[in-house]
Amino acid sequence: MDIQEAVGEAKQLDEKYDLFITINESAEGNFPIAVKDNICTKGLRTTAGSKILHNYVPVFDATVVEKLKRSGAAVLGKTCMDEFGFGTFSVNCAYKVPKNPVDPSRSCGGSSGGSAGYVAASKYARFAIGQSTGGSITCPAAFCGVVGITPTYGLVSRYGLIDYANSLDKIGVLAKTVSDAAKGLSIISGHDSRDSTSSNVPAKDYAKLQEAKLRIGVPKEYFEGVDPKIAERVWRSIKSLESGGMKYEEVSLPHTKYAIPSYYIIALSEASTNLAKYCGMRYGLSSDPSGKSFNEYFSQVRSQGFGQEAKRRVVLGTYARMAGYRDQYYLKALKVRALIIEDFKRAFGEVDVLAAPSMPVIAPKFSEIEKLTPLQHYMSDVLTVAPNLAGIPHLSVPCGKVEGMPVGVQLLADHFKEEKAFAAGFGVENG
Ligand code: GLN
Repeated sequence: MDIQEAVGEAKQLDEKYDLFITINESAEGNFPIAVKDNICTKGLRTTAGSKILHNYVPVFDATVVEKLKRSGAAVLGKTCMDEFGFGTFSVNCAYKVPKNPVDPSRSCGGSSGGSAGYVAASKYARFAIGQSTGGSITCPAAFCGVVGITPTYGLVSRYGLIDYANSLDKIGVLAKTVSDAAKGLSIISGHDSRDSTSSNVPAKDYAKLQEAKLRIGVPKEYFEGVDPKIAERVWRSIKSLESGGMKYEEVSLPHTKYAIPSYYIIALSEASTNLAKYCGMRYGLSSDPSGKSFNEYFSQVRSQGFGQEAKRRVVLGTYARMAGYRDQYYLKALKVRALIIEDFKRAFGEVDVLAAPSMPVIAPKFSEIEKLTPLQHYMSDVLTVAPNLAGIPHLSVPCGKVEGMPVGVQLLADHFKEEKAFAAGFGVENG
């Protein structure tokens, strides 16, 4: 394939749908990929979607990028995202708001919106790289009608990822098919001594693994409040797995309702700590410090560089970690996280894979998103935060349409059992 043709296509798609923050005119390699802009690429601007990093050009490649390049990938560009990954609809963007190629009046989903939109629209790209803290691969995959794999925490190195929340961040793949997602994950996974949270579990070739006759669990809490037309599509794919020879049963994950408050306390506490380094001295945006105290200078740079949602999260996260509130919020959220993990472990004692809707709604119109309060934004993550808190692998696979917009089913497996999620995914795709 001529990579310059793929670069030309990326430019055209960008004009139409605003998918890229930076396009790499001099990309070289055998196959095209796009990378979310919070993953460092040597010599190619990397902003994490924030003005505070508007001029950051890394001098090194993230481990995933290094592995991709070694396997022949040409990095065509860096995709649009919510600032630092803070969002569900890719509207908290300092650069451009990506538009859903299926219907440009609607959101691509967030925060890996540009990567999902690119895979959905491109003729050339089989997959792109995304990242999830609390649903940022599943949500845009479902909204744009592509496949998204969020791997087990620690399976893919985070070296070179600009952190949102270190205990939650995972790099993963958005792809045209389950098999492409499996191929992409096989390339980027594996131990990395430069990331202390990287696991020692040997890398597998997920594209070769196929397991049939799985036991499927359907968590009843994941259907509450879901658009009934979406629930119906998801049930259809569960039934198709059944006709393929898999058995399903209803299961319960009783702590699901505490996942949103627990997630937002943990994620924002970690985020507010991570953002402290952007003080106008070592990274990114800076200005003239003369005549100002450190606090004045620090506040000035951060007021200019951070968007509204980043500022909100700094304030909320700092509050949750404050002496006097720490026990009440942060430590309690960690206890809830442990209960959520226990829910999943109990379920995986009985079933191989859990099947549920990826998102409770189809991709909303921008005019609808404008009316949402910050709390309503956070509530949209109700189906995706628990698997992310538990660090278990989850795969979103398209399973039909509602009002012309794609719907996704998410397939959750136990830690390091990605192959089971993929096997169920093949079943849905072929069902
Ligand atoms: N919507 C969630 C949040 O805003 C998840 C985002 C993500 O996974 N990066 O935190």
